[in-house]
Amino acid sequence: MRYASSRGLAAEIDFSDALLGGLATDGGLYLPTEWPSLPSGAAGSYPELAAAVMQPFVDGVIAADDFAAMVAEAYSTFSAPDVCPLIRLDDNHHLLELFHGPTLAFKDVALQLVGRLFDHELRRRDQRVTIVGATSGDTGSAAMEAVRGSERVDIVILFPAGRTSDVQRRQMTTLTDPNVHAVAVDGTFDDCQDLVKAMFADEPFRQRCNLSAVNSINWARVMAQIVYYVWAAQKLDRRNTATTYCVPTGNFGNVFAGHVARRMGLPVERFIVASNTNDILTRLIDTGEMVADDVVPTLSPSMDIQISSNLERLLVELLDGNGPATAELLAGFREHGRAALTPPQHERLIAEFSGTRLNDVETLAVMRDIHEKHGLLVDPHTAVGIGAAERLRRPDEMVVTLSTAHPAKFPDAVEQATGIRPMLPTHLAGIFEREERMESLPNNLAAIEDYVDAVRR
Ligand SMILES: *Cc1c(COP(=O)(O)O)cnc(C)c1O
Repeated sequence: MRYASSRGLAAEIDFSDALLGGLATDGGLYLPTEWPSLPSGAAGSYPELAAAVMQPFVDGVIAADDFAAMVAEAYSTFSAPDVCPLIRLDDNHHLLELFHGPTLAFKDVALQLVGRLFDHELRRRDQRVTIVGATSGDTGSAAMEAVRGSERVDIVILFPAGRTSDVQRRQMTTLTDPNVHAVAVDGTFDDCQDLVKAMFADEPFRQRCNLSAVNSINWARVMAQIVYYVWAAQKLDRRNTATTYCVPTGNFGNVFAGHVARRMGLPVERFIVASNTNDILTRLIDTGEMVADDVVPTLSPSMDIQISSNLERLLVELLDGNGPATAELLAGFREHGRAALTPPQHERLIAEFSGTRLNDVETLAVMRDIHEKHGLLVDPHTAVGIGAAERLRRPDEMVVTLSTAHPAKFPDAVEQATGIRPMLPTHLAGIFEREERMESLPNNLAAIEDYVDAVRR
């Protein structure tokens, strides 16, 4: 399997380079040059299905047996026997729970595998990397949890001091492995992201540390997320009947993985893109135009995004695979804050994707309603999804809404909506007793780089 850049100017590479390389040299995102077909028969367990669905993407780089073993190990860290269990709300609406991994957000489904893939490829190539990243909450702990204990990876995660929830911070600072490091930066999330970008732009530093990233544009993360769309269809006995998937969306990585499953042969009625007040994607679906706006903080912070990086992977398809035209559209968007699809491109977008938005008041109302009707506590991201599905679903349309975080990850919002404070699962219950280990540093590139140089092995 070969991988090509969405902007069409970088050389094609194999899975190993796409995994470790991040952005293409022309600034684009890697995509496989062809879509393989889904395996035809039903697999027994989630790991079996996962290995069968993903193997074509790693073909030629990782042997089938090695890959299946890595997949099995990655999903053995999940606390649910089904890995991603399906919960019935009514006959035509189910929740697919993606939050039973170590850090309680759906990021674990991809990152638990990606951490093991990194280790495997670095060992084979006899290399080491230093992963640097910025987090506003969920991604940092999922990435640290995914590579902790690795001999070949050091990871340094920057977070804005005082601006994450206690649970989110403690998930990072109570890890004891010598290769994971959490840094509280005296600044905002944007400052943290700028520091990471500046480290990558510092070529001597980048070379010396062999810098790498596991952010949401990494193809391997999209790849791992394809599987649970197929899993839900299999669980509902709908491998040959079209289903609608409703996806709480931020960077467009999760819903794009659903689109890939469809390209591989999964019958899909449509995707519902669920947004919070940061609704650039919903407006794109409504109008055919992408117009940037300020980011507004909401109860569902992992969706507080205005520029969805993974959208580029869909745009290039809507532009008939024309990489340079895609680059031009995105450059225009960056410069003017707006970019328009042509009417035929917009038609193709809305043939597959619907969208709607919920504000915080509506989100809390859904959380309260679901608790009253079903006795179920849901987190605010999931609530945005449920509300969008309820608003748009047609009679007899079968909908699966993706449930992206455990309610205990957002206890304040859940308590505000329902009066009940959700409990952390037992494996995390101890994080409030454990000692915290973190470095506090100023918003200063030299100070951060000195720290990274000092802790990397
Ligand atoms: C990351 C995240 C999302 C958004 O997923 P994208 O792939 O960025 O669209 C939604 N909900 C939760 C809880 C998340 O952590």
